[in-house]
Amino acid sequence: MNIQIYGAGIAGTYLFHLLSENGYKVSIWDKRKEPDCRCAWGIVYKEAKRFYSEIGLNFDDYVLLKPRYVVANGLWLKNRDIVIFDKKRLLSDLWVDLSVSDNPELIIDATGVSRAFLPPIHEDRVLPTSQCIEKHDVEENIYIQMEKTGYAWAFPLGERKWHVGAGNVEREKIPVFINKLREKYGFEESERACQCSAKVRLLQPSKCLPFVSGNIVGVGEAIGCVSGAGEGNAPSLASAMILFDCINRGNLSEYEGRILKELEWVEVEQRFVDAMLNNKYLSAIRLLPKIIAIENGRTVQHSVKDIRKLINI
Ligand SMILES: Cc1cc2nc3c(=O)[nH]c(=O)nc-3n(C[C@H](O)[C@H](O)[C@H](O)COP(=O)(O)OP(=O)(O)OC[C@H]3O[C@@H](n4cnc5c(N)ncnc54)[C@H](O)[C@@H]3O)c2cc1C
Repeated sequence: MNIQIYGAGIAGTYLFHLLSENGYKVSIWDKRKEPDCRCAWGIVYKEAKRFYSEIGLNFDDYVLLKPRYVVANGLWLKNRDIVIFDKKRLLSDLWVDLSVSDNPELIIDATGVSRAFLPPIHEDRVLPTSQCIEKHDVEENIYIQMEKTGYAWAFPLGERKWHVGAGNVEREKIPVFINKLREKYGFEESERACQCSAKVRLLQPSKCLPFVSGNIVGVGEAIGCVSGAGEGNAPSLASAMILFDCINRGNLSEYEGRILKELEWVEVEQRFVDAMLNNKYLSAIRLLPKIIAIENGRTVQHSVKDIRKLINI
């Protein structure tokens, strides 16, 4: 089968290597000249390690550091398994000659938030973000300041470098959020090595249907594989692995069902975001035990009491 992937982000590059190493005729093309370097460098270590080992890549070579704590609204939560990795270098190593093939039988939409090939999503929810790299002498933890409509973050990159940024449904609140984070944790404004803006889709997979339209199939953030906390790296890798398996078995008709089932935890977290944004606090509280169970096993150690304190309900 002749396959064309559009989008060489985390999902597209991973799927490209899974397919090409298993004998498929596959091309990949991206509208950029080089991989995106925006801050999205946090990932659950054991998931990344397992996925990348499937294409013979040693994820350890890209790990920059493992913060001891995730400090959210002043609450110190023990980090379970989140590491910061050099995503730009990893993607650069996975980029191959970009090309577009003639008459592909299957087109993969791995264009992330753009979802450039699949039909548009009715009532999409996309969070604008703004971020930069600065130098700071702050203890190397992940710092987060969140409110109902968004959050600000500071992620350590080592050698005093930090990704500092924020996302908010109301774009004009982004600088306010960043300033709150600066004041709370001591990230005084300093010279910026770079600055950019981006967007992240915060909508559960079930609201991003269809995943398949004619000979086009979506993967990664294009089909809503981003958790309620804005975590899309590991879910995008997971969706690429599911898609590879469906292509390999010649059974694309199973794809939508498998994404919804195997990434149900993403769905649950996004339902929580829905409930919070719509002031349905009782529904949000009911989802908490499920969310705690999911996240205690992978990201941070916390309790229902901690989260209620965090989000003020
Ligand atoms: C500021 C910010 C911080 C984040 N931090 C984290 C984090 O710490 N941890 C985490 O897990 N997730 C994080 N995320 C989310 C995560 O980055 C994404 O969910 C994830 O990268 C999605 O992977 P993807 O491959 O589906 O899409 P992307 O990584 O966005 O890749 C899509 C690719 O498609 C290309 N493209 C777009 N349109 C076209 C087109 N028409 N033709 C060809 N190519 C096209 C783009 O150039 C890009 O290279 C963050 C997101 C943002 C915005």
